Amino acid sequence: MPWTDQDILRYSRNILLKEIGPSGQEKLFSSSALVVGAGGLGSPALLYLAGAGVGRIGVIDGDRVDLSNLNRQWIHKEAAVGREKADSAGEMLLAFRSELRLEAHAEALTAENALELFRRHDVVIDGSDNFPTKYLCNDAAILAKVPLVHAGALRFGGQILTIVPGRGPCLRCLLPEIPPRKDAPTCSEAGILGAAAGVIGSWQAAEAVKILLKIGDPLTGRLLVVDILEATVTTLTVPRDPDCPACGKSPRIRAPLTASEYDLERSCAS
Ligand SMILES: [Zn+2]
Repeated sequence: MPWTDQDILRYSRNILLKEIGPSGQEKLFSSSALVVGAGGLGSPALLYLAGAGVGRIGVIDGDRVDLSNLNRQWIHKEAAVGREKADSAGEMLLAFRSELRLEAHAEALTAENALELFRRHDVVIDGSDNFPTKYLCNDAAILAKVPLVHAGALRFGGQILTIVPGRGPCLRCLLPEIPPRKDAPTCSEAGILGAAAGVIGSWQAAEAVKILLKIGDPLTGRLLVVDILEATVTTLTVPRDPDCPACGKSPRIRAPLTASEYDLERSCAS
């Protein structure tokens, strides 16, 4: 792709980084990323991916913007309350970068659409806000063999784990089954500082860029734990489980589970 003067100026700060340079930037232009959820994690993740020059970005979210989202989900304007999040986020992304190839899906990620969507992207960011969707992302990434940057954020912090199928552990190596509801409060139950979601979602975007460019040391086999209140960042080693139901030697999960099957898994764990 021929570079315009605008491209050189716009991406000059990326290109100055020796780990990126002009060839890395061209790689980003020809790369694609899918972000599941246009919420607290998806807001920074989507905009930093667009800002980095990732050529094609998909966003999938079946929810509508609620006033209570706006302490952290700043990809949506006040006037977007009540609108589909995917459409509102898409509008902001195109206003930010008009030449972006955008695919906005105003629907939930499901067993029916996950594999096809994941296979059409080079990396997936999980910005979802519930465990059934996080497990669906995990299982679909393993089955589709697409790298996934998993994360969760709550209260004043969060965790990130980068899952590279065939090369490192997955979410089910860490927690084989969906945790019971009582052990997994949501942001609407436990609260979240907007900036905490911003830190985690921004870090996810950086991980995705590392994966796309094959630079640095991804968070594969290491769970990053950020606690903003205590001002600590720690990494915990996550070994691969040979008996993992998703990525082990004899995996039980051969296809993404339906929503009711994930619910059943969660209710059995409680
Ligand atoms: Zn696993």
